[in-house]
Amino acid sequence: MTEAVNTDYVSVRGLGKSYGSLRVFSDLNFDIAKGEFITLLGPSGCGKSTLLRCLAGLETPDQGSLSVDGEDVTYLAAQKREIGMVFQSYALFPNMSVEDNIAFGLKMQKLDKAEIARRVAEGVALVELEGNEKKYPHQLSGGQKQRVALARALVTKPRILLLDEPLSALDARIRRSLREQIRAIQKELRLTTIFVTHDQEEAMTISDRIFLMNKGSIVQSGTSEEVYLNPANEFAARFIGAYNLLDADQVERLIGRRPKSALVAIRPESVFVRHPDLTYPETSSRPIPAVVRSHQLLGNVIRYAFEAGDVMLTVDVMNRSSDRLMKPGTEVELILNLTELRELEA
Ligand code: ADP
Ligand code: MG
Repeated sequence: MTEAVNTDYVSVRGLGKSYGSLRVFSDLNFDIAKGEFITLLGPSGCGKSTLLRCLAGLETPDQGSLSVDGEDVTYLAAQKREIGMVFQSYALFPNMSVEDNIAFGLKMQKLDKAEIARRVAEGVALVELEGNEKKYPHQLSGGQKQRVALARALVTKPRILLLDEPLSALDARIRRSLREQIRAIQKELRLTTIFVTHDQEEAMTISDRIFLMNKGSIVQSGTSEEVYLNPANEFAARFIGAYNLLDADQVERLIGRRPKSALVAIRPESVFVRHPDLTYPETSSRPIPAVVRSHQLLGNVIRYAFEAGDVMLTVDVMNRSSDRLMKPGTEVELILNLTELRELEA
């Protein structure tokens, strides 16, 4: 039996927001199911924080509406929305201990002392900060501070958790472990979450669905796989992964067939360096002569730049210890899997 999913737990209709003459967005529409983990992914300045602030009630939209669990909250005061928010800058109270920081929202809600103590202990345990309750923010690492901010939001039992680039100020290793922790907690609590990042790898690994944003619009939404495998347009192909983008003439010269659309994308891992002992699927192109121009070691992958006629192609090859690195100048033949060519909307 499948569980009924409320697909419009959060509903945004025709949402618009301007600052003076600057229109940040004008007609945003989307629905989020209860318990979903959504990532807003997009370049700096595209309106991610403004959208989050409208959802949180820290900003009033100029047009449109926003509802949570069937209730219109467009003009409801922030503190009545039951929404938790975590910022990149942590925004902890420097003169308060860890436990007082975490208790802050609960005191605002005027819960009784025993309940506050119980929830703070629960929050501390959830983010694994046991033993740090009496410390002050300046005694904590960046990752620990962000866990305090996360606990402070979680203990209020929000209906929605909003996270605005919570990991961007942390170094890579902490960032990875904290994002796994956030995802695990979110799943455990089945908490509807909107997470903002400009980092596509982060978005890919953590989300149920990604909303890819550009210049105030959601240009594509879908699972990581959908967005990665089928970029909707040129922006998506450039922003997600390191797609090769070829115009129609280049495609025609490479594979001898002209595509319908003016721009075609192909992923670096969908191009193969032909090996004489291997056979390739029927959907493959004929062998295309090419020369290695450079390579870059990305750990388990080698990223080659090949020149095929007048076309430069980025190609990712698994870095197997048995294979030799191909030096610049090496002549090869490339095979394109034609089913992996993505014709883009203009
Ligand atoms: P993002 O979070 O995606 O980087 P923001 O939502 O912060 O983008 O900003 C979107 C646009 O709105 C930017 O051009 C930014 O300069 C502008 N903006 C954001 N906040 C304000 C504000 N309070 N006053 C005026 N302009 C703002
Ligand atoms: Mg922002």
